[in-house]
Amino acid sequence: MPIYEYLCLKCDKKFSLLQSLFPAEKNTECPECSSREVKKIISSFSCGAGSDVGSSSSMPAPNFGGGGG
Ligand SMILES: [Zn+2]
Repeated sequence: MPIYEYLCLKCDKKFSLLQSLFPAEKNTECPECSSREVKKIISSFSCGAGSDVGSSSSMPAPNFGGGGG
């Protein structure tokens, strides 16, 4: 389960919650002041890992015997 970060607009408290993939924002309340005025913080994921697999499979060239006569 992913962890979502929220920011309380009332007390400026940041907190993270373990929620399902599609959390109901209206059900999220601040654990500090129990305020419903929270904002979801989209944490930027760092996706830059790229494992480039060198696929250089040199196929053997077919040997066409050209023997014409
Ligand atoms: Zn709060």
